[in-house]
Order: sequence, then structure tokens, then C-alpha cells
Amino acid sequence: MFCPQCGREDEELYQGLCRLCFIKETPLISCPDELEATICAHCNSTFQGGKWADSDLDPEELMVEILTESVQPADGAEYVDLSFKILNQKGSTWEVLVSAQGRLLGEEVTHECQVNVKIRRTVCPDCSKYASGYYEAVIQLRADKRQLDPEEKLKADSILKNSLKKLVEKNRMAYLVDRVEIKEGVDYYIGSYKAARSVVNGLRDGLGGIVGESPRLMGRDKSAGKDLYRIWISLRLPSFKKGDFIALDHSLGRVVNLDGRGVLVEDLESLKLHAIPWKDYDQLVKVSESGMVKKTTVTSISPHKIQVLHPDTYEPLDLDLKPYMDDFKIGDEIEVVEIDHQIYILKKG
Ligand SMILES: [Zn+2]
Ligand SMILES: [Zn+2]
Repeated sequence: MFCPQCGREDEELYQGLCRLCFIKETPLISCPDELEATICAHCNSTFQGGKWADSDLDPEELMVEILTESVQPADGAEYVDLSFKILNQKGSTWEVLVSAQGRLLGEEVTHECQVNVKIRRTVCPDCSKYASGYYEAVIQLRADKRQLDPEEKLKADSILKNSLKKLVEKNRMAYLVDRVEIKEGVDYYIGSYKAARSVVNGLRDGLGGIVGESPRLMGRDKSAGKDLYRIWISLRLPSFKKGDFIALDHSLGRVVNLDGRGVLVEDLESLKLHAIPWKDYDQLVKVSESGMVKKTTVTSISPHKIQVLHPDTYEPLDLDLKPYMDDFKIGDEIEVVEIDHQIYILKKG
């Protein structure tokens, strides 16, 4: 047998190398570059192996514990002693020099490595429950120029509940402190601002609307040396709902969808779809609503005209025949809406 590294013959090989080459090539310990641990800022319990466990370690002791657990001695290492030196600390991240001393195949060796340890401070679920007074953000659900619907509130509650359930797996502060119904709408008090932002995005995807944010200075955290803000995030639902009628520039359309991107409107006459982003919301005017749609009857059709009865006065009205009325027949019951004293025939359902 010979060592491929140095060519020495008649040597016992350790992982393919002679003893001296193995000792030279093998670090006594191997270290991860980075480590993370989560500790509850209130009760010091730690999050390990997917669950919270009681602990009375402070962050520095926790750092030593997880370092000790994650440093791996090499095969053939014995009597390994570790020592830790903090080189630098920035916020919750510690730069630690790990020094190891021990024996490798009987030879005294040392090895040093550097590990960044991040100790994330959050609030454990138990503390969250009790920390009911603490919240970073308030989501204000409102509607523009109208009251919120019971269905809108139900939908919002369900979106909020589901997104917090997902968020809390990664953010222990993603909890609802309180839900308060007031005259103007619903206020949701949320533990974490980041979670609240994420919830608002979900609400907007489901309900549409315009998001606004106003931070208010609540005081100063003397120990951290920074100002404490609480953020009010408002989601204002549009004055109209799906199925309502709006005017935009010089055309009229029916709202076919509302989501995070904007309003999807179908032109009443051309049936073309227009996507209007929320930033242009102020240009949209609600002119009628789905509840105002009425039924009437087609009384005559000529090559260019269609005659229907006015739904309220039964007066015959001759209107232009449009391509989407191709399958309309005399005697059909159809839907119309009156906007600004003008009757518009809606496409078939
Ligand atoms: Zn060798
Ligand atoms: Zn706790």
C-alpha cells in the first residue's frame, strides 16, 4: 500500500491517506458557516427541532449550546476541547471564533473556524396568548362611500384567519390581538407589522381595494434606542362591487372582477374587457348597481334595431342592435339597466 499524497509505501491508510498526510489534511472539527436559533424574548424558551421548549438559557448561553451541538469532530478525533470567542456582535448576529484542541490519530492538533450565529428573538405561542396587549399594526377594513357588507366582513375574516395560520408557522408574532367592529368598518389588531402587511395583501387579492398606511409614534424604546411606531394599514374597498356599473372616461362598463391588481370592467356596448389598476380608482364613477338590473321583453327585431319595453313604464324603446344580441329573439326575457335616463340591454347571462 502507498499514500497517493506523499508516495510513502508500506503505510496503513486512513481514508486513503497515510497517517501523517491524514493528520495534515483533516481538520479536527468541522463547523457550519452559519447557525440560527430562535428564543422567546419574553420567557427564554427556545425553538428547536420544530417545537418550543422551556429553557432558562440567555441568548449567549444558547449560542454556546447550539455551537457545541453543531461542531463535528473528525473521524479518529479524541479528547476534543472547544472554546468560543465572540469576535463581533451586530444586533442579534454573533461572529464567533471556535477553537478546538484535541488528538487526531494520537497526534495533538488544533483547528479554528468562524461561525456566524443568529439568535432570533421572537415571542413564543404561550407568551403571544398572554401578550394580548401588544400589537404592532392595526388593519382598518373600510368601504368607500358606503358600509361594508356582511359577506365582505365574513370573507375578510376568513382570509385573515387563514393567512395568520400560515404566517404564524414562521412568525410567532403573527397573531390577532383583537377584532373590533366600529361604525366605519372593522379593525384588526395584529401582533406583527410584517404579518399585517402580508394579511392586507391577501385581503386585497380577495376583495380588491386601495391600501394606505399611517405610522404613529407611540414612544421610545430606551433599551433599543429607537422610536416605537404603531402602523395603521387601511384597506378601502371600492364604492362598487362585482356586477355594479361604472363610468370610465366616456364609456360605461360592468365590474366583472376585483382583485389585488385592479378592477376588471366589461364595456357595456363593445363587451371589451378593461383592466384598471387601483391607482386609477379615482377616475371611476359608480353609476348603477347590480340590484338595479331589471327584466323586460324583446318586442321586435329589425336588421339594425331592437325594440324592448321600458321595464317600468312599458313604453316601447327602439335601440341599436349590437353584435352580442345576435341570439336574441322576439319574446325573449332579457336584462336591462337604466343609466342616466338611458336603457342599456345587457348580454345574456
Ligand atoms: Zn502520505
Ligand atoms: Zn415565551
